[in-house]
Amino acid sequence: MTASTSVSSLAPRDYTRVMAVFFGDMPIGSWINGKMVPGTGAEFDLIDPATAKPFLTLRDAGAELVDVAMSAAAAAQKIWWSKTPSDRGRILWQIGQQVRAAQEDLALLETVGAGKPIRDTRVEVLKVAEMFEYYAGWADKLHGDVIPVPTSHLNYTRPEPYGVVTQITPWNAPVFTAGWQVAPALCAGNAAVLKPSEMTPLTSLALAVLAQKAGLPDGVMTVLTGLGATTGQAATTHDITRKVVFVGSPRTGAMIAAQAARNVVPCVLELGGKSANIVFDDADLKRTALGAQAAIFSGAGQSCVAGSRLLVQRSVLDRFVDLVVAGADHIPVGDPLNAATQIGPINNAAQYQTVQNMIAAGQAEGAQLLAGGVRPGDAACQDGYFLRPTVLGQVRNDMQIAREEIFGPVVSVIAFDDEDEAIAIANDNKFGLAGAVWTGAVDRAHRVASRVRAGTFWINSYKTISVMSPFGGFGASGYGRSSGREGLMEYMQPKSIWTETAANPPVGFGYAPDV
Ligand code: NAD
Repeated sequence: MTASTSVSSLAPRDYTRVMAVFFGDMPIGSWINGKMVPGTGAEFDLIDPATAKPFLTLRDAGAELVDVAMSAAAAAQKIWWSKTPSDRGRILWQIGQQVRAAQEDLALLETVGAGKPIRDTRVEVLKVAEMFEYYAGWADKLHGDVIPVPTSHLNYTRPEPYGVVTQITPWNAPVFTAGWQVAPALCAGNAAVLKPSEMTPLTSLALAVLAQKAGLPDGVMTVLTGLGATTGQAATTHDITRKVVFVGSPRTGAMIAAQAARNVVPCVLELGGKSANIVFDDADLKRTALGAQAAIFSGAGQSCVAGSRLLVQRSVLDRFVDLVVAGADHIPVGDPLNAATQIGPINNAAQYQTVQNMIAAGQAEGAQLLAGGVRPGDAACQDGYFLRPTVLGQVRNDMQIAREEIFGPVVSVIAFDDEDEAIAIANDNKFGLAGAVWTGAVDRAHRVASRVRAGTFWINSYKTISVMSPFGGFGASGYGRSSGREGLMEYMQPKSIWTETAANPPVGFGYAPDV
């Protein structure tokens, strides 16, 4: 196993070699107790979204392997929690260094496995390194409080891990999401059992291999490769799971939370969004148009925070829409392995179909197709799930395309007249994940930021996030937080400890015979 092959030295789509960088000749399966264990359940294929062709067949882990993995994780968690916090921090730091050293290889594996442009996966991999480095610093700074209780007791709290936490992640940013959840879980002293999307498990497995190289004890990080309804369900409902962190669609999230509630297991839900990106007529329109394109088209729109509802003040509507349409018509869409590509394919056939259906539904309701909506003409885009960035105009906020998450490179333009109307439209949606305002007026910027119901909000910017700052949803976008101190606290529970300090504490209850 070496992590030294560079992207440029690999033939395009040499899948075997790209995978061998991390997995050597191990048959790919689930990462359990420090070893690759092939699944025994139903077969499923990994498909390269840029070619729509399968490149690897895997087998579902299934309930029996989940059981083995959970027992190993529970045993390993005890070892991990018995280490000093400084030791845990040092290992987390080393994981970050391993990820940095493997940046190109991990980015390449993500690009071929998830179809994300290499320019994006390089950045996402570095963010994973930052996540481990950031939480490495927290490991020996987690302490409780001494509480001045009104009795003769010394009362203090100890933050303690849950034990084994199960994490379920989607396909749109696989390695980013894995690092995002695994790093704080381990920092807090838990063992992490991660079940990535069955469509994109490779980089989560590679991260586990790197963590082992960094000195993480076997069993502390598990990756279950398998299907949601079998492996995912077995993991989230397993007796050993003490907390579930779910990143994915609202439907699956609600179902998992309901099941977890029956076992009295708490959840964090990071779900979808339908974020409003609000443009006022006093904004720098050229810069704002670039921001609006990045907000929705980067990652082919497969981003939970995508600025999918573009609210534009009517006085600049035509001028601004022309700028966005010109951008949509020119953004390079193509092979994600090409460093110049800004938009790669949509991740999978089902999602590709969903996005096209939503565009058709929008048009049927009266939206106007202003750009995109078609497969790009280039030769590189004829087989995979490619779509030109799409702009829909004349959208009303009650149309399906304005209410439901599309999760594709499709922006719905909605006009408004004044600030109150913009806020009303922004908040008239079940989701509350993110949003932005573009304006030259600082008072308006902060007024709007305070009035829009969303967990993350940008002013004259979009999509900036950091592991240092809390992230999560309002409303149907979920509950609980990831990143920052708040995200770390989700992985810990406080224990309250009472020590009697009085020489002769008053006894107010019971009977003690003289002895
Ligand atoms: P999904 O809900 O279909 O799948 C997510 C994960 O759940 C997968 O790993 C899947 O195998 C698993 N799963 C499915 N059924 C399960 C079950 N019964 N038990 C346990 N696990 C099960 O979502 P998706 O299509 O993979 O991802 C897209 C969604 O993710 C979008 O809605 C997007 O907004 C959301 N997302 C949210 C965030 C955020 O931070 N808020 C980030 C990224 C993506």
